[in-house]
Amino acid sequence: MQYLMECSHTSVKVGWPDDVMRCDDIACYAMRRVIAIECREWHVKCNSCKWGRWFGQDEHGAKRAAAKHAHSCMVDYMRHPKLYDTLKRSYSRRVKPFILPAYGGNQLPGVRRYEPAPVLQMLDKVVNPDVPPF
Ligand SMILES: [Zn+2]
Ligand SMILES: [Zn+2]
Repeated sequence: MQYLMECSHTSVKVGWPDDVMRCDDIACYAMRRVIAIECREWHVKCNSCKWGRWFGQDEHGAKRAAAKHAHSCMVDYMRHPKLYDTLKRSYSRRVKPFILPAYGGNQLPGVRRYEPAPVLQMLDKVVNPDVPPF
């Protein structure tokens, strides 16, 4: 799972993160509260038949499968119901189900929509551990 910590750094872990994780960024290297866990995945759904599939964070795999399918498909990056349920059951309500640029999540490799913007770079420099950036 991809997760965002209070210091605005993101990381990836197989399975669910703890409430507090060590941030391995060289600027931090400290225990940080997890403030968001990405519960969206790429999803392909056929417009004509019942075929549909989740692709995790594999955007290219989703688009390739949609192109190969016989009918036209919808490709979407959307909330995965099971992941969202688990998040709601297992974590405090303060943990967000998406990593969005507005939360400071600009470090994810290979996820284009999280590219740093000037505003986010400023957020990185004024992180107050008691006031998460959302
Ligand atoms: Zn950090
Ligand atoms: Zn189909």
